[in-house]
Amino acid sequence: MLEVKNLYKSFGSNQVLKGIDIKVDRGEVVAVLGSSGSGKTTMLRCTSFLEKADSGEMIFDGSHYEMEKIGRREIHQLRMHIGFVFQSFNLFANRTALGNVMSGLSIARKVPKSEAEKIAREMLSRVGMLNRADYYPAQLSGGQQQRVAIARAIATNPVVVLFDEPTSALDPELTGEVLDVMKKLAEDGMTMVVVTHEMQFAQEVADKVVFMDKGVVVEEAPAKQFFSAPKQERTLQFLRRTM
Ligand code: ATP
Repeated sequence: MLEVKNLYKSFGSNQVLKGIDIKVDRGEVVAVLGSSGSGKTTMLRCTSFLEKADSGEMIFDGSHYEMEKIGRREIHQLRMHIGFVFQSFNLFANRTALGNVMSGLSIARKVPKSEAEKIAREMLSRVGMLNRADYYPAQLSGGQQQRVAIARAIATNPVVVLFDEPTSALDPELTGEVLDVMKKLAEDGMTMVVVTHEMQFAQEVADKVVFMDKGVVVEEAPAKQFFSAPKQERTLQFLRRTM
């Protein structure tokens, strides 16, 4: 359904991605794990065209794209189908929770206001935030803001949602509420790619784990196998250190 092949990206002389391959099937939850600086966020940002890849191929629902040559119009089209949840929520400070969720629908999709509001309320309800619809981001906790950001990402009914360390800016007690929402989405069949340091979440929710180190995929395996019988020495070291 979504596949990225041979993805390369450098920042100046720092080669951050050295030929990454990632494949996500419909309904699958893929956890991307790896030490700090291994390139996980960069991989996710290139996949959603928030960052321009140096080279790489994307296959999305049967269509092939050369990532370094892709034009603005195609990016706009692809982005319609790819939701993104940022580490730092990225909500509009001057809009309420409802306004934030409506924004993607009314701006990018040109959905009429009354319809956008109906969908936005449904999405806020899905993430347990309907009772805070009229609150501004500053009046919400970090966990609540992230739940609103998730509602915004799913409101446009994307084919896949990419999560970039969605709980890393949160206190431990607020992390659980966000992970619970993500777990529910996964159970509902949402296709998700989640860059995370939450090993328990990856173990419980992911179907597949991609383990990155120094800009390459070291190991990719079904989650059960990854955690119980990793094949690579580097994976074993990582699991010993983090679990
Ligand atoms: P973490 O788990 O700490 O978030 P990560 O695996 O997500 O790490 P990245 O954030 O992708 O790693 O960063 C990989 C490397 O790319 C780092 O060396 C980082 O400094 C560099 N890097 C990332 N973004 C930029 C940028 N915009 N400009 C220059 N260097 C960057």
